[in-house]
Amino acid sequence: MLLRQIHIQCVECGAQQSATEPVSVCAVCGGLFEIDLRLTPLDRGAFDRDTSGGKYFSGVWRYQPLLPRLPENSIVSRAEGRTAIYWDDRIAAYAGLPRVGLKHEGQNPTGSFKDRGMTVGVSHAKAVGARIVACASTGNTSASLASYAAAGGMQSLVIIPEGKIAGGKLAQSIAMGARIVQVEGDFDIALALLRQLTAKYPVYLVNSVNPFRLEGQKTIVIEMLEQLDWNPPDVIALPGGNLGNTAAFGKALHDLHAARLIDRIPRLMTIQAEGAAPFAHYFESGFDRYEPVKAETVATAIKIGDPASMQRARRAIQLTDGHVTSVTDDEILAAKSWIDRAGIGCEPASAASLAGVRKLVAAGVINRDATVVGILTGHLLKDADAVTGYHLGELGGAGRPNVNRPVSVEPTLDALERTLDDALSS
Ligand SMILES: *Cc1c(COP(=O)(O)O)cnc(C)c1O
Ligand SMILES: [Zn+2]
Repeated sequence: MLLRQIHIQCVECGAQQSATEPVSVCAVCGGLFEIDLRLTPLDRGAFDRDTSGGKYFSGVWRYQPLLPRLPENSIVSRAEGRTAIYWDDRIAAYAGLPRVGLKHEGQNPTGSFKDRGMTVGVSHAKAVGARIVACASTGNTSASLASYAAAGGMQSLVIIPEGKIAGGKLAQSIAMGARIVQVEGDFDIALALLRQLTAKYPVYLVNSVNPFRLEGQKTIVIEMLEQLDWNPPDVIALPGGNLGNTAAFGKALHDLHAARLIDRIPRLMTIQAEGAAPFAHYFESGFDRYEPVKAETVATAIKIGDPASMQRARRAIQLTDGHVTSVTDDEILAAKSWIDRAGIGCEPASAASLAGVRKLVAAGVINRDATVVGILTGHLLKDADAVTGYHLGELGGAGRPNVNRPVSVEPTLDALERTLDDALSS
């Protein structure tokens, strides 16, 4: 059977884990698992077959030779992936670079990159016969899980921090039938509780500690490189919260190199929010001292004080000679306003990528002639309150760029003309 051929081992102690049962953390040492694909050189044309059961030509499952092999009848796919890279001159100027690409993972079925990992995680859950799949979430994971569980005929259970989930994400989870439990406290508390629950009951945990999720998230990088004709950029920048994606990107680059699809490894740069930056502090200490923080930021998707994938992410940064930094909420919101104003749009956490690139170019960490691709992790509509808060309210501090306030007038042509005078006569 296929599942027996998947090699899973603990990255800390090397303990082996069978893929025929739910996979969470190492029972021996509490470490996280990684899937070893035992890759041999691959051909660039190896990715043209639909392995999602023939239903869709998925932008994840088309990369099957770089993924664990699951039984075809257990694959739950919603045609995820196949996202665009935008190259916009105004964005490049804002970053201080001649060119910068933004790969928009908000174009996935539920509006965030989480779908790429979820299709693999939920498919594995189905392959091992799980009936209940669960996650703790800052919002997007639960929206994605609700969707994929429903598509695969399973019940989803999500634990979320009460009152701290962006409206669009909560709405998706409710509408798509997740059993939702809100707990007092933050994401870190929600995840700790869920881990206790899944240790006691037959509930399959699909948080990003799950190695199958990371395998799916690798395809962001694989697809990006294919879009760039396998010419690696100098830098890949992404926001960092729980750091599953940073870990997945490191594994993607490792695997692509092992398969001889690239001969040069781009530098990964993870950007955190200043109020939720334990990884950035850890990096600044030369990966010597790690301390969890109490997280606070407008970018709720990265509001995490004790990232689960910290050590895997450290290895990704070390492997790629990468960098970690943090940006303020004002910097995030300003960068977001430029991304939005260019017609691209994203949720706040995503804009940390661009804010971080701008900061690192100014600081000389990124060369002014570097090729850079940033990841936009989620769709603008995920967090409509952040938009209205910025443009109509006080969010974003003094001097915020691109403020765009709707006005109200009485219903007469005269009033309309007076209001639009400047626009019509220019
Ligand atoms: C989950 C998420 C992140 C953070 O990714 P991690 O893997 O937790 O570091 C960033 N942005 C958005 C929109 C997300 O949904
Ligand atoms: Zn272990």
